[in-house]
Amino acid sequence: MDKNIGRLGFGAMRLPEKGGQVDLPQTSKMVDMYLEQGFNYFDTAYVYHGGKSETVLRDALVQRHPRDKFCLATKLPIWQVKSLKDAERIFEDQLKKCGVDYFDFYLLHAMGKSREATAVNAGLYELCQRLKREGKARYTGFSFHDEPAALAELLDSHPETDFVQLQINYLDVFRGSSGKLYEIATARNKPIIVMEPVKGGTLAKLEAPIEKILKSRDKDASLASWAIRYCCSLPGILTTLSGMSNIAQVEDNLKTCTNFVPLTEDDIKALEEVADAISKIGTIPCTDCKYCVDNCPKKINIPSLFGLYNKVRESGSIAQQAADYQKVPKKNRASACIKCGACESHCPQKIKIPAEMERVAAVLE
Ligand code: SF4
Ligand code: SF4
Repeated sequence: MDKNIGRLGFGAMRLPEKGGQVDLPQTSKMVDMYLEQGFNYFDTAYVYHGGKSETVLRDALVQRHPRDKFCLATKLPIWQVKSLKDAERIFEDQLKKCGVDYFDFYLLHAMGKSREATAVNAGLYELCQRLKREGKARYTGFSFHDEPAALAELLDSHPETDFVQLQINYLDVFRGSSGKLYEIATARNKPIIVMEPVKGGTLAKLEAPIEKILKSRDKDASLASWAIRYCCSLPGILTTLSGMSNIAQVEDNLKTCTNFVPLTEDDIKALEEVADAISKIGTIPCTDCKYCVDNCPKKINIPSLFGLYNKVRESGSIAQQAADYQKVPKKNRASACIKCGACESHCPQKIKIPAEMERVAAVLE
């Protein structure tokens, strides 16, 4: 495995937007700042930013920097694949969109038990090995969103997998099943790429009493920096991706990851205390990935409604969120959900979306 990968990875899923489009000048500047500090890993996917993330990276990165100065990772959307031909067509399209003739890391996107049959029947694991032999992918693996037992099964069935991309953050480790995922991968000597270290940004903004736990240890450190440091302190991590959305976030992450200081035992205890406090609030664990939104026949903006609900739970007050909710057309509110379930299978966080819509409606309507 490539030893030159920096501990901070640049995720291209939440790039800055302007007028509904990715802001290319700002993205280019963020890319330059990141590379200037000696970091080098970029992560995109066929579906990010409505299919535009790969072309933005071509324009902001590939066409502006020597190919040997960065690693590029992208992902195959298994849910768009019915046969090997589909996968081959998408892969060739990805090379064109990114403007490269090989990927450093190529992933089957959002694997889990329910997608294994498609991956096997379409010959996607064999395809990955072929891409490596042909020099079109240096390393192949998968990103994963499912239960620990399914990860163990996948890794044991496909020992040729070079690496695995897992959702790891201190909240999901202390209060969820991420710790088990980490153990399963490390027990099999699989290098781990961390995704969602700040849990879709939710660990970057905590309510004042919870924030105080960390501010009392270091008044200058951002909340996001604690979350990033937690992941970067774990052994066996190849890189920790951060889906950066503006220059300030790049600056903060670079400050955290250049001259990196691992967490102490007392720091980890403080994070456990924070995780405890967060889990008592009872928010919906939505990371705003938006994978669900295109599938809703009622055009309900699921992550946006979950965001309003979470703000009510976090702040303990409802006036502002109720006013914002009133601006949502009635036909797109939580009570318009027909419980068709079309959204649910797309949610990597396994949120029971129709049931949560009932909670949202009960509180905000
Ligand atoms: S279950 Fe509700 S939120 Fe989900 S797709 Fe159907 S209508 Fe939309
Ligand atoms: S509900 Fe699930 S799929 Fe939809 S944005 Fe939130 S985390 Fe993503």
